[in-house]
Amino acid sequence: MSSKWHPRTAAVHGGTRRSQYGEVSEAIFLTQGFVYDSAEAAAQRFEAAGEDEFIYARYGNPTVAMFEERIAMLEGAEDGFATASGMAAVSGALTSMLKAGDRVVSARALFGSCLYVLEEVLTRYGVEVEFVDGTDLDAWRAAITPDTRAVFFESISNPTLEVIDIAAVSELAHAVGATVLVDNVFATPVFSDAIAQGADVVIYSATKHIDGQGRALGGIILGTQEFIRKTVEPYMKHTGGAMSPFTAWVMLKGLETLDLRVRAQAATAAELADALHGHDALARVIYPGHAQHAQNALVQRQMGGSGGTVLSLDLAGGQEAAFAFLNALTIPIISNNLGDAKSILTHPATTTHQRLPQDQKDALGITPGLVRMSVGLEASADLLADVLQALEKVQ
Ligand SMILES: *Cc1c(COP(=O)(O)O)cnc(C)c1O
Repeated sequence: MSSKWHPRTAAVHGGTRRSQYGEVSEAIFLTQGFVYDSAEAAAQRFEAAGEDEFIYARYGNPTVAMFEERIAMLEGAEDGFATASGMAAVSGALTSMLKAGDRVVSARALFGSCLYVLEEVLTRYGVEVEFVDGTDLDAWRAAITPDTRAVFFESISNPTLEVIDIAAVSELAHAVGATVLVDNVFATPVFSDAIAQGADVVIYSATKHIDGQGRALGGIILGTQEFIRKTVEPYMKHTGGAMSPFTAWVMLKGLETLDLRVRAQAATAAELADALHGHDALARVIYPGHAQHAQNALVQRQMGGSGGTVLSLDLAGGQEAAFAFLNALTIPIISNNLGDAKSILTHPATTTHQRLPQDQKDALGITPGLVRMSVGLEASADLLADVLQALEKVQ
C-alpha cells in the first residue's frame, strides 16, 4: 500500500486485508475472539501481538483494523483507533490524555454532548476547562497559558457554522507544548487537511458523512502512532468504547463513496445558499462557502474553497415561521443527523441545543428562527423548489 496515493485511491483500497478466499468486498470478521494454535502461541501473542495478530475485539479486529488504516491513510494520519460512536472518540481522546490538574482551552461553540464532556465530566475529575470564542484569536492567545495541556474545538461550529483557524490556533497551542484536538465532523475528511494545518489529533463522528446513509453509529480518533498506541489504545481497550466489526464494515464501504457524495452534497449546498441569499423570509443565510460569510477568506485557505454540506437559515418570522417552514417541506426530513444522503433539517433552539440557557443561545447566535439544513444527494432543482414553496407558505 502506498502512502503516496491520493485520498480517493486510499478511500477505496487503503487498509484492505484479504482472507484466503480472495473476496472483493471486505470480509466482516464478526467474531469477538481469536483462536491460538497452541498455549505457547497464546502466551506469545499476549506478550507482544504482531501487526496482524488479534486477541479480543475490544482491543482490535481485522475488519475494524481495515477501517482504521483506510481512514488514517485518507486523512494523512499515522494511525487511528475506531470507536463505538463519535462521542466515544471525543471523550476517549480527551480522557485518555488528561489528568487532574491539567488545563484545557476549548471553543465555546460545541455540539451539546462535547460541551457536556468538557463542562461536566472533565471538571468533575479536576481538569480545568476555559471556554473562548473560537473565532477570536486574541481570546485564544489570552487563554492558552504555559500550563495548558490541550486545546479542543470543532473546526466548523454547529449550528452557526463559524470556522476556526486551525493553523493559527495550533501555532498558539504548540508554542506552549499543548496538544491540539480537532473535532472535524462538519469539515469532513474531504475538505479538510487538519493535520497538515497543525492539528495533532483529528476526531470524526463516522455516524455522519462517513456512513452517510443513516445506518450506524461510529467514530475515529486519528493521530501519531505514538499517541494512538501509547495513550489512546490502552485507555480505549480497557474502558470498552470499541467499534463493532459490522459497523466497521459499513464505514469502510462508506469511505469508498465519501468523496463523491460529499462533493455532490456541498455543490448543492452552495447552489441553495446562492439562490436563497436575500430572500424576504430569511434574516440570514449562513454558508461558509458563500462570498458573504464573514470568514470566507479562511474557508478558501482551510477548506479548499468549499463550504461543506450544511447551511443554516434564519427565518425572519422567528420560531413560528421556522416551524411552519419545516412542516411545509415535502422532500427533506425533520431529524437531527447530518451528512446523510437524505436532506435533513432541524431547529437547534428546541432540539440539539435545547438544554442551553438563553444567554448561551444568544452568545452563540442560536436564534428562534434558525434552522440547520444538512444537504443530501437529491436533485438540487427539486430541493430548491421545495424550499422556495415552503418559504412562500411562511410569508
Ligand atoms: C454528531 C457529532 C458528534 C457525536 O457523534 P456521535 O456519533 O453521534 O456520537 C460529535 N461532534 C460533532 C461535531 C457532531 O456533529
